[in-house]
Amino acid sequence: MIKFIFDEDLPVISHGHGVFVYDTNGRAYLDACSGAAAVNLGHGDPQVLKAMSDQAERITFANRGAFHNEPSERLADRLSALTGYPYVFLCNSGSEAVETALRLTLQYWQECGQPQRSHFLSHAVSYHGATLGGLSLSGHPQRRRVAKALLHGFNELIPPYAYRFAQGRDDVAFSSSLLDDASRTLDAYGAGAAGVVVEPVGGAAGGAITPPDGYLPGLAALCRERDVPLIADEIMCGIGRTGTMLASEHWSIRPDMVVVGKGLGAGYAPVSAVLISRNIIDTIAAGTASVTGGHTYGCNPLGSAVALAALDAIESRGLVDAAAERGSQLRAGLEDLRQRHDVIGEVRGLGLLQGLELVSDRETRNPGDPIGSLTHTLIASARDQGLLLYPVTGGINDAVLVAPPLVTSAEEIDLLLRRLDAALTAMRRTSRCRT
Ligand code: PMP
Repeated sequence: MIKFIFDEDLPVISHGHGVFVYDTNGRAYLDACSGAAAVNLGHGDPQVLKAMSDQAERITFANRGAFHNEPSERLADRLSALTGYPYVFLCNSGSEAVETALRLTLQYWQECGQPQRSHFLSHAVSYHGATLGGLSLSGHPQRRRVAKALLHGFNELIPPYAYRFAQGRDDVAFSSSLLDDASRTLDAYGAGAAGVVVEPVGGAAGGAITPPDGYLPGLAALCRERDVPLIADEIMCGIGRTGTMLASEHWSIRPDMVVVGKGLGAGYAPVSAVLISRNIIDTIAAGTASVTGGHTYGCNPLGSAVALAALDAIESRGLVDAAAERGSQLRAGLEDLRQRHDVIGEVRGLGLLQGLELVSDRETRNPGDPIGSLTHTLIASARDQGLLLYPVTGGINDAVLVAPPLVTSAEEIDLLLRRLDAALTAMRRTSRCRT
């Protein structure tokens, strides 16, 4: 038995169908967090399974150093056509893709004759991956802890997290104070600043942190003025989840690189990608070294075929628009639950990436005591009601993500909300906290 940090009593999964998964005792759960915000098409999608088995029968692996392969070439072209980024680097996990974006940025600066630019900046509440570069960017105390001897402290920017950092300022004033801070920090690093990495809508740290409207365009402008690349980590919020193909589109920003994963393979295969702008790639291409540092399974035909089928499904079924529409329904329902359950301090997010901030007291906005206890109680209570939520723990707050698959029907959203209501009610009965 593999020992994880998670709950010892986790059920054992048996199978899945649509937005439901089943354990080996036959219990059904509505998967309101798409596994880990990845299973955007639900389980058992026939179109994806067919593409997967067709590709598996042909070939599953090709050594990138020896062959191009058609599915990966087509996937790169498809992602370029969908997003307008001319170059695509394919990896497997989100963390690998974040590392790749960091490495490409360092290579870009070396080709620009400024190799001293090696310091990245990211938000103090953020998650960018479990590898050392990703963790160096991450504002997530628990996940940083064991690796801290090898980490950089890139996570310096004040997060665009109004509920805990605005201190009563409205969105405009908060946004401008964040930009003042970012501008000062960038200037402090001066010619050492390599890049800024942001989650347009946050995920695993904080829980669906959604910046005030002026912030990301302002940050993009600060980066442009200083010629510092802006990298959007859209591993959780990209590929349609927030109601636009890329979450950056909500603010009409065009980062120099965008990292996508999770929903790209929709949970059917590990596949991720770095989308790279012309400026970065042309500088690298004109330089002294080729792009290095791929991974054994990067560009594997099976993962690429799955991602192509997932993108086909998203486009042909209009799932980006569906995420916006179902997202509005979900948001309205969550706001309604907030009216009736004091434990919900705030509802935030975009499309089908919604977060509930949990508090022990609405006035003081205190999280659980200890921090994490409210999250764990709600996760367990929801599981008892046949509902899976994504826990946000290990940081400064208590929160859960509600991020169901993009294929969730209106009736299934209603069912999700009813089960969540029941879970919140049961939590009030069983815990001492005032909910
Ligand atoms: N960045 C973000 C924004 C993420 O949400 C995650 C995963 N939760 C990662 C990076 C790391 O991705 P992976 O777990 O696939 O390595």
